[in-house]
Amino acid sequence: MERKVRVRFAPSPTGALHIGGVRTCLYNYLFAKQHGGELIFRIEDTDSQRFVPGAEEYIIEALTWLGIKFDEGVSFGGNYGPYRQSERKDIYKKYVQQLLDAGKAYIAFDTPEELDEKRKQIANFQYDTTTRMQMTNSLTLSAEEVEQRIASGEQYVVRFKIEAGEDVVVNDLIRGEVCINSSILDDKVLYKSADNLPTYHLANIVDDHLMQVSHVIRGEEWLPSAPLHVLLYRAFGWEDTMPQFVHLSLLLKPDGNGKLSKRDGDRLGFPVFPLEWHDPKTGDVSSGYRESGYLPEAVINFLALLGWNPGNDQEVLSMDELIKLFNIEKCSKSGAKFDYEKGKHFNHIYLQQKSNAELAQVVLDKLAELGLEADATKVEMAVAAMKERATFTKDLWDLCRFFFVAPKEFNEKDVQKRWKENTPTLLNDLLQFLETIDCFDNVEQTEETVKAWCEEKGYGLGNVMNPFRLTLVGEMKGPHMFTITQILGKDEVLRRLQYALDTIVK
Ligand code: GLU
Repeated sequence: MERKVRVRFAPSPTGALHIGGVRTCLYNYLFAKQHGGELIFRIEDTDSQRFVPGAEEYIIEALTWLGIKFDEGVSFGGNYGPYRQSERKDIYKKYVQQLLDAGKAYIAFDTPEELDEKRKQIANFQYDTTTRMQMTNSLTLSAEEVEQRIASGEQYVVRFKIEAGEDVVVNDLIRGEVCINSSILDDKVLYKSADNLPTYHLANIVDDHLMQVSHVIRGEEWLPSAPLHVLLYRAFGWEDTMPQFVHLSLLLKPDGNGKLSKRDGDRLGFPVFPLEWHDPKTGDVSSGYRESGYLPEAVINFLALLGWNPGNDQEVLSMDELIKLFNIEKCSKSGAKFDYEKGKHFNHIYLQQKSNAELAQVVLDKLAELGLEADATKVEMAVAAMKERATFTKDLWDLCRFFFVAPKEFNEKDVQKRWKENTPTLLNDLLQFLETIDCFDNVEQTEETVKAWCEEKGYGLGNVMNPFRLTLVGEMKGPHMFTITQILGKDEVLRRLQYALDTIVK
């Protein structure tokens, strides 16, 4: 029988969620949804030294903003909780004991100083089958002494007893069979008495088993841990519930080689975090996609295509389409270059899909902030005319500003080029003519009327239109001339023309 798909996103709350982690979570989500499965949100906080307050809340807020929904987990509830590992101490203790009882793990008392000493004595020292009998542990001490040391409060760790010479095969959906020999592994620490907590490896395996995780989809950096995880499943006798492993390739620097880092973002000017992050330790503030003006749909689309594509040139994909088309087996084995410009491109596309009314709000807010009044319909019209040029919603104000704030100065270069000797005469004429017409609301009609007038007068179209634009916009920019006159309306057009005629002297 096919196993029910249950996947998990299991971050450690050690800081902001990196954009690569967001992609891992997205792929888990897409995979779960397309299989009618469940996505679990688990917090792996067994390393108390690296715990950062606020990180958990940050991760939840970021994923909620992006529209990634969990079925169960920390803050979402569910039948397999608690989902925060620090709240599962008793559960892990039981399983550590199980391994100890079966002789598959042992207690070790070696202090950090003793271990350092060994490292000095033995080149490439590794705590394993070749060295463990020279160390201070329950394999070399008598049962009484072990008991006595524990009773007297001595700190200890529990180590996994890895048998040498075994081939360990990790079956990975993207990479195929990855085989390593157990002799290269060390006897990993599974539990530390000092903080009464298991290490990542044990907690991760026990939870995946108990939470009935069917697929472990995570970053490539965890591939080296996978053989150990396979051995742990075997040690517990859980081979039947071993999840299918999927290790996703890294996100790479936009330029050069190597893993995408926060420094690349700082250097090249783009965020590597979904939301702005205030580091509670250093006080540093790092930029986020949300605060930089990205739409969540754009970020999702952009990330989905880093390491996977639908096999055709379809590029704009909604979450629903991604759920349908995503194929985890087709994810690339090699790293995906983080093409930041592509992210902007997606934002531009998704921005165009927003209604004018929604986008107009950005401009209306700005107008209110500046204490300027404007008709909401006019703002929508301005947004409709300009949004094609916007990458971010925050660009809209700069683009639309001239509709609501009349130019007081005129671009000097444009004046040099477009304001000719006869310009004042032509524009004065135009001004008088415009006073007589009343079709400003109709773009085509105004255009035809003005063009016909130019022709009748024998005025070259460019000689009239170019300086006319300059008077209304302040520079040689903007959309179609008669869209501008439509939005400004007759009174404002005449006012701006008059102002320019009074002001521009050459
Ligand atoms: N806690 C690990 C992390 O921070 C999870 C690795 C895994 O998914 O097994 O990414």
